[in-house]
Amino acid sequence: MERVWQEIERLLIHKDRVITEVPGNGQGPAIAFCAGLHGNEPSGVLALKNVFDYIKQHEIPVKGRLLAFVGNRNALHQRTRYLSHDLNRMWTPQNIKKLHNGGFNQKELDPENLEMVAIDKLLQDFIGRLNGQERFFVDLHTTSSPSIPFAAIDNQPQSYRFALQLPIPFVANLDDFLKGTLMHYLDHINFKALVFEAGMHDDPASIQKHEALIWLVLGLSGAIDQQYIPNYHGCFTLLQGLSEHPHKVFKILYRHHVADNSKFHMLPGFVNFQPIEKGMTLAMENGRPVTAPFSGHIFMPLYQDKGTDGFFIIERVSADEKAAI
Ligand SMILES: [Zn+2]
Repeated sequence: MERVWQEIERLLIHKDRVITEVPGNGQGPAIAFCAGLHGNEPSGVLALKNVFDYIKQHEIPVKGRLLAFVGNRNALHQRTRYLSHDLNRMWTPQNIKKLHNGGFNQKELDPENLEMVAIDKLLQDFIGRLNGQERFFVDLHTTSSPSIPFAAIDNQPQSYRFALQLPIPFVANLDDFLKGTLMHYLDHINFKALVFEAGMHDDPASIQKHEALIWLVLGLSGAIDQQYIPNYHGCFTLLQGLSEHPHKVFKILYRHHVADNSKFHMLPGFVNFQPIEKGMTLAMENGRPVTAPFSGHIFMPLYQDKGTDGFFIIERVSADEKAAI
């Protein structure tokens, strides 16, 4: 893993925020890829670099307009999730209004606000060059506990149809529980948007899974002809083969909020999507057991020392409910 961080360091030193920007031939969709929005998640950054280096070296024709960029450069440099604020909880309507009306005042300019200003400028430039083509946004993440690859979307029909094409389970109502994600900003300006979680932060296999997902999105969206994609079917099998629940849709029932991370300890051994029963002890907080208020599947149990999402409980969505989403 040390090698991964050294590569990240090289990338941060030698390149600005943009990993790649491809104008395309004007026919395909527009796709923005983000990685490293959390600074302890280097995997997606390297995956984007690897895929776009390959595209360049092999002179693969690109139809769509593509942008790939690094999220929290400062936090990545320090190998930490964030410095002052979680950069993936800051894209609230109030902050966006500020961004577009004179910006933040001097007092408010902490490291993440500066990142936010730079990312927004990049995205506004990208959006300004579009003329009516389909828009996609893919945000690459990793988790603090072992996990099969999965996606999460907001309650948006255009994102729902996009996520269904991928051979991975997904959670369809992230915005009911998390506010201020970058995805939320973009899916409210007509992007088909998803967060993709490849696996654990420090697992080198997460990079391969990120690469597979990037290729699939490029192929499925029509940005690159599938014939040019190396081992296109292998990308499907890599992601699908690790999952008991490909194409299955879940919804979040419950989020356990953690006020003080140092007082919260998940019991060891919980794995994403693991079935749990109501009343089961899941964690200790302030010396007392935290039990599951619902039966379902555990989702994103917190095994890191930053963050306020202790765990979520999710359940499978039936066909009828799917129609309602
Ligand atoms: Zn993340």
